[in-house]
Amino acid sequence: MDISVVIPLFNEEESLPELNSWIARVMKENGFTYEILLVDDGSRDNSWKVICRLAADNPHLHGIRFRRNHGKAAALNVGFRHSSGEVVITMDADLQDSPDEIPELYNMIVKEGYDMVSGWKKNRKDPVSKTLPTKLFNRVTRWMSGIRLHDFNCGLKAYKQDVVRSIEVYGEMHRYIPFLVKKAGFDKIGEKVVFHRERKYGKTKYGLDRFFKGFLDLISISFVARFRQRPMHLFGLLGTLLFLAGFIIALHLAYGRFVQQIYGMTERPLFYFGLLAMILGTQLFIAGFLGEMISRNAPDRNRYHIEEKTKNLSC
Ligand code: UDP
Ligand code: MG
Repeated sequence: MDISVVIPLFNEEESLPELNSWIARVMKENGFTYEILLVDDGSRDNSWKVICRLAADNPHLHGIRFRRNHGKAAALNVGFRHSSGEVVITMDADLQDSPDEIPELYNMIVKEGYDMVSGWKKNRKDPVSKTLPTKLFNRVTRWMSGIRLHDFNCGLKAYKQDVVRSIEVYGEMHRYIPFLVKKAGFDKIGEKVVFHRERKYGKTKYGLDRFFKGFLDLISISFVARFRQRPMHLFGLLGTLLFLAGFIIALHLAYGRFVQQIYGMTERPLFYFGLLAMILGTQLFIAGFLGEMISRNAPDRNRYHIEEKTKNLSC
């Protein structure tokens, strides 16, 4: 199969029929074999009924329904797990992304050899309250991830099947999929300017709080990617340095008190600073040690991304 189109949706009943016929038209015109995977993320409107109706008419369309709302990342993850196309394309269900971009995205993966291509809503049709913070978000993400993309969180993206099999999107990590892809060892990540429209039906599912959550997620991605298997290297180092600083301060104060006979050492701010540094240093060291014990017992501690093997190598 050429293409799997994975579409996460939450309360998007009005858009689905148009989305289905638009995608079907594009696929037919270009002669692609395809499937549409609609992942209903616990919608409370009639989305699921609409999906069942569409599936009865279009044998290429399949629905997966969550019992409750788990978030876009979870819906994407499940869609990825069920996809079997050579190229996997994700898009939002609200008709803001255009299925007409599919052929070119497909070609960029198959002919130009990209591992992943991310859409860039260069001319974004959303209110300023959304576009302005997004610019900042993209700048920070660009800087922290080292990936030169203008628009990390565009719903329209294309992947090699191998890529979606190698990543796990969870929590609210859908904003950082290019980062996850890079961490999995795929570095040919491209960008394509895509057409963006205003939301036709319903309203956005994300408010301003997404930036706060997004920022924390970015920190955890970079942290987890670097230190997941060696937390002691971070906490142990910080803890040791802090403890040493505190210890030197304590020695200095003790020397003053007992050798130079200076009184009133415990009233000095330095005394409290030294004390605090030793306590915090010990705490950090213990955190690193516990982290190390946990990571050594993690079930996937020895899971690596193997790209290929010589044919007759079993095991
Ligand atoms: N979505 C989802 N689960 C959620 C929230 C959103 O599957 O909990 C879907 C939503 O239906 C849409 C896509 O994710 O297909 C993007 O959401 P939205 O259009 O609200 O985001 P925006 O374009 O405003 O950033
Ligand atoms: Mg949208």
